[in-house]
Amino acid sequence: MSDWDAIVVGAGYGGVTAAAVLASAGRRVLLLDKNDRAGGKALTVDRDGTRYDLWPIAGGPARGSRFAELCSLIGLGETTLLTPDAACELVHIGLDGRPRSFRVPARPVWDPRRIAAMFGRLGVPRASLGGLAALILRTAVAPGWPEDLDQVPMLELLERYRLPSPVLSTLAALCNLLFVVPVDRLPASEALSTLRDFGRGGAGRYHAGGFGSIAQAAASFVEARGGTFLRGARVSRILVEGGRAAGVAGPAGEHRARVVLSNAGIQPTVLRLVGEERFTSAYVARVRSLEPSWAFVGVRLHLDRPIFEVPMTVVYSDESWLDQRRYDRAAAGSFPRDPLLFITVPSLFDPSLAPRGSQVALLGTLGSPDPGSPMNDEAIRRAQDAATRLWPALRDHVVRREAFSARHVSSASRDQVVPRQGGECIGIGQLIGQCGRSKPRARSPLPGLYFVGCDAGGYGCGTHQAVDSGFRVAAMVLGDSQ
Ligand SMILES: Cc1cc2nc3c(=O)[nH]c(=O)nc-3n(C[C@H](O)[C@H](O)[C@H](O)COP(=O)(O)OP(=O)(O)OC[C@H]3O[C@@H](n4cnc5c(N)ncnc54)[C@H](O)[C@@H]3O)c2cc1C
Repeated sequence: MSDWDAIVVGAGYGGVTAAAVLASAGRRVLLLDKNDRAGGKALTVDRDGTRYDLWPIAGGPARGSRFAELCSLIGLGETTLLTPDAACELVHIGLDGRPRSFRVPARPVWDPRRIAAMFGRLGVPRASLGGLAALILRTAVAPGWPEDLDQVPMLELLERYRLPSPVLSTLAALCNLLFVVPVDRLPASEALSTLRDFGRGGAGRYHAGGFGSIAQAAASFVEARGGTFLRGARVSRILVEGGRAAGVAGPAGEHRARVVLSNAGIQPTVLRLVGEERFTSAYVARVRSLEPSWAFVGVRLHLDRPIFEVPMTVVYSDESWLDQRRYDRAAAGSFPRDPLLFITVPSLFDPSLAPRGSQVALLGTLGSPDPGSPMNDEAIRRAQDAATRLWPALRDHVVRREAFSARHVSSASRDQVVPRQGGECIGIGQLIGQCGRSKPRARSPLPGLYFVGCDAGGYGCGTHQAVDSGFRVAAMVLGDSQ
């Protein structure tokens, strides 16, 4: 008899969600993670009386999200999900170099007058917003999954609506932030489905106790339901016996189960943990060819006085959003003058996270997923310079500065097993050819092995996609075991 009904490798949001669903269905679950706590790419840490996430992170949709379902499953109250009124400030740097901004609440904004007023602050005349109105209407009525848009690049779709430059730049920059891929290779199906959910539920959700707090609560829920969560437990091999996944092995020994769910990434799982000899050469070639999303790199700024006023800020110009050509230019050293910035201040969502009078600001920008890429140091330097231009007080009030790059992300999440992969922000890229019907299947070709997390099974933005995958893959496992 197996030791466990299911083993889940990795306690990122995909892994903990699947583990919690299986445990609540009465399955005996072993959850393992190489880190000392759950959360993966959404880790929250404590240091010197301050709690903060390792990098800028916030969620969408704000309301009606799969996080609400996860909270309800594991018994967390609604107050865990924070959706502040003044959630986000968008700062657009105009052609004259002047910043102009507007604030967006976490609740949905469908009122055409408010949308016109927001873009009016960027100098966009109301009369030129007809294309935007048509695009919003199209997004609102997008069916469950608009399959006809799987092969249509989002940038091409946006260009069809003849949007004024600041509006196009706002939407393209948001697509870069939500999916961390080139806007001209992002499938319009993935983008519209996600934006439709944001339109219905708003954006800018955070979690009481830190963004990773729900992952930690989900891991505790698994333990309370008779499962075990092994921390600091790196899995080095997935055992295969009788032609099916039979368990895992690592420095702490072997564990056997009827099924194994891997949250470690499809490439590390197939190419390293199982071994390519267990799959057909065509499948291995497909797995090798999958492209990761870009990275998000930046710096944690510990401040001795509050400088930021809103929990989330996005800074961009008409040059900041990236398609593949602009990214290639940046990778070759030619960065936009005003890089795309995403800044969060966790204590502005949840004041209990930092002592009064101080702030930790998490500042990120787009970078390369390659943990060894020289592009990232330059991207971080430029992001800090741009932030200091906009908030000169940063010059005098930063008491500690901690850079984070693709190699730190890789060490908190997935291992590098193919060149230029490992430090990706999301998972495999939400790119044409890797989404919708072309997305890798969560049920692997090896019986008893499933992928869970951002590589398979779900859709949407980052953590939401991971949780969506967790629910769907757990349902698949339960269905298969009937
Ligand atoms: C800088 C940055 C900013 C981001 N900002 C946002 C944001 O604002 N909003 C948003 O929604 N998303 C954001 N994301 C993306 C989001 O965090 C991820 O898409 C999501 O958390 C991925 O979840 P996952 O379950 O797929 O996998 P992961 O979080 O990668 O979890 C995988 C887990 O598996 C474990 N693991 C891997 N290999 C092994 C092994 N061999 N043995 C044991 N354990 C193993 C890892 O330690 C990890 O805990 C951001 C990510 C980064 C890096």
